[in-house]
Amino acid sequence: MYVILFFMRVKAVIHLKNFKENMESIRARAGKERLICVPVKADAYGHGALEIAKASIEAGAYCLGVAAVSEAAVLRNGGINAPVMIFSQPHPDEIPEIISGNLIPFISDAEFASALNEQAAEKKIKLQVHLKIDTGMRRIGCNADESKVIASHISSCHWLELAGVATHLAVSDSTDKQDIDFTKQQLHKFRKAVDAIKAAGINPGIVHAANSGAVILYPDSFFDMIRPGILLYGYKAADESDIDKSVSPELNNYKPVIVKPVMELTSEVTLIKKIKKCDSVSYGRTWTAQKDTYIGILSAGYADGLPRSAGNKWQVQINGKTYPVIGRVTMDQCCIDLGPEPSVNRWDEAVIFGGSAPDASELASVTGTIPYEITCNVNKRVPRVYV
Ligand SMILES: *Cc1c(COP(=O)(O)O)cnc(C)c1O
Repeated sequence: MYVILFFMRVKAVIHLKNFKENMESIRARAGKERLICVPVKADAYGHGALEIAKASIEAGAYCLGVAAVSEAAVLRNGGINAPVMIFSQPHPDEIPEIISGNLIPFISDAEFASALNEQAAEKKIKLQVHLKIDTGMRRIGCNADESKVIASHISSCHWLELAGVATHLAVSDSTDKQDIDFTKQQLHKFRKAVDAIKAAGINPGIVHAANSGAVILYPDSFFDMIRPGILLYGYKAADESDIDKSVSPELNNYKPVIVKPVMELTSEVTLIKKIKKCDSVSYGRTWTAQKDTYIGILSAGYADGLPRSAGNKWQVQINGKTYPVIGRVTMDQCCIDLGPEPSVNRWDEAVIFGGSAPDASELASVTGTIPYEITCNVNKRVPRVYV
């Protein structure tokens, strides 16, 4: 522990209570018997991988998911002993770290399985792996029609245990008719592949497919485990009310999943000053005062998580009132219009998104992106404050 003596010019308040409540509503949807894998890749979508990992385990998560072996190392070095799955294809040079960290890689091909098996044999350590099947995402994973052969190759590797079989859905968050058909096809291919593995006398282990969109829209995608990311961080990738219930009749049996944003980005009014009618503000002079007014300067810019494209389009909240972000957002600071008779004081808190302000999904829609990118882009210089 060290005491923070510097001024927190901007901070990301992480509401762990909301995270845990989100976990509960997702569990209510998926059923208590389902395992939950919490994706904590990209520093837990910007929320802080270690803290979110700890909160997840306390809330009953079975395992964690990361993209890179280096991200898994952060968890292991931070004392996390829970199973950790590697969602992306690791490099063969990372095999020693996979083995020593007891990490669970996704396997797409026999070649990588054999390389793992050889090195696990040298260390005399039995390693769990999950077979990843590509049913339409066309990222990693073996072709669905090869899955039985690769599953049996893994089974023949003495130092590997086939602990699970997974796929990933490409359009599970869409309620477009064609996308629904595509998702149903993906799930059908996956079920067929899993059945073929079982029919060959191989235990597939934990079967899993559902990302956030599927948790909301496809109860038949839950299998043994779900992997909701953005939903746990408080954003609904899809809404139950948008889907024709005749397409997903099982949904009639469930209450809507209610989740709350976990991240709140705040800054403080570091300076207030009067400007005159016709004075311009910030780079590019994209905003000009229509009358004499006061502006406030916040120490939060695009390097802190307020997208540059939010300039002249977003508002922040101060003491429950809304103030527009004026002119270009710069790397480290932005300006807001406080009006001719400001009721704001210097050092008052300004909420940029989440909390009392509109959330990251609204900021995303104003700036042409998705909430994932908003929370991931909160730079590591922004302190995370866990409450
Ligand atoms: C990122 C990821 C998820 C979670 O996706 P969300 O859309 O955030 O729910 C699940 N599975 C895999 C393999 C992923 O890479």
